[in-house]
Amino acid sequence: MKSTSKHIAMRTCAACGEVKPKRELVRLVRLESGWVEVDIDSKKNGRGAYLCPSRECWEKGLKHGQLDRVLRITITPDNKAQLLEQGNNY
Ligand SMILES: [Zn+2]
Repeated sequence: MKSTSKHIAMRTCAACGEVKPKRELVRLVRLESGWVEVDIDSKKNGRGAYLCPSRECWEKGLKHGQLDRVLRITITPDNKAQLLEQGNNY
């Protein structure tokens, strides 16, 4: 059987719930220490979550606890502040 569609890895934004190609989303990873950071190269090991590169989704995902839920941890206020700062670039 021949497939005409190319396989594209799709991921869901933790904030808005939109499903998008993986490369259009930003990956966040929960490290073993429990610290969450932006995984620029998508190469880090650990439980990952995805967010749209938009200020809206970063604020929603971080401030409303969606990211905590997806990563199954409670992100510390320090960690959230740091991530929000990085979200300023989007
Ligand atoms: Zn989103």
